[in-house]
Amino acid sequence: MSTEMRLDPLSGRWVVISAARAKRPDAFVLHSERLRHEPLKPCPFCPGHEEPTPPTRVITDEHGNWSTRVIANKYPALEGDEPFIVENRGPVFTAGTAGGVHEVLVLSPDHDRTWAELSEAQAADVMRIMRDRISDHAMSENLRYSQAIVNAGREAGASIEHPHGQLMAMSFVPREVAEEQARFSRFTARCLLCTTIESELAVNERVVYADDDVVVLSPYWASVPYEMLVLPTSHSSHLHLASDEAIAGVGHALSKALTALQATLGDVAYNLVFHSSTFRSAETYHWHVHLVPKATTRAGFEMGTGVAINIVPPELAAEELRQHLER
Ligand SMILES: [Zn+2]
Ligand SMILES: [Zn+2]
Ligand SMILES: [Zn+2]
Repeated sequence: MSTEMRLDPLSGRWVVISAARAKRPDAFVLHSERLRHEPLKPCPFCPGHEEPTPPTRVITDEHGNWSTRVIANKYPALEGDEPFIVENRGPVFTAGTAGGVHEVLVLSPDHDRTWAELSEAQAADVMRIMRDRISDHAMSENLRYSQAIVNAGREAGASIEHPHGQLMAMSFVPREVAEEQARFSRFTARCLLCTTIESELAVNERVVYADDDVVVLSPYWASVPYEMLVLPTSHSSHLHLASDEAIAGVGHALSKALTALQATLGDVAYNLVFHSSTFRSAETYHWHVHLVPKATTRAGFEMGTGVAINIVPPELAAEELRQHLER
């Protein structure tokens, strides 16, 4: 395939799909740099060493031991429940209040169990606890949006090895979400992602995994190698209002997608980004998860232009990922 440009309809950004560049030696960072906690300092997320702060929410197993838990972040990036107030302190000095909530979601008590290795029931619990916390955030009148993320591996921004995610509720609408909301509004025919699911299943070139509740694909406009989009098949704008089936289905599909990624690239670092509509928006939107492997680094061209160069066409990526799941 020759090089071509593709438009990402969610972000409005162009992507260069360039298969030729993948032939360069050492095109990928293949193994995630392992994080090691200092030997004298126990892992703060392992059972028995939990921080003294009580969890904001916890799911326990039949023996009364916790299986997944959400705790307040010890070093919150956003804090307080004031509304977002902008203050102009000069012609180029604009400030705003950084109100919000910053929490840590510990996936399981097991220090080495990544999302790929969670059982179907555990993955459903993790998604359920995420949904419940975001529902709580949505009840606070000064909060407008919650960003759920998982950073795995140092290259993806993780500082503690024990698999965990973060929930950040904020009093403002962040740019990425506002941009996606605008793109959904401009896509007048119907829902942008319902259309994506239908179109991708019809051509069946980039689908990695599909069942009744979820479709995982490497999108037509993938901007990094092996990027995936995890889409619940039932149309719902808000993650915190999604059905039990959709919630459990996405949790399980993420395990599948990450297993395929690991089988293809090895222990690569990655980010999971959960996108949902802003709490009180009634506009058309379809919640989803971006799975972004950190196999390449963003270089000057990407920074300068906002245009990404993807050296693995998503058709090839999907084929490789799918083969590992079929095996
Ligand atoms: Zn641990
Ligand atoms: Zn939809
Ligand atoms: Zn998104």
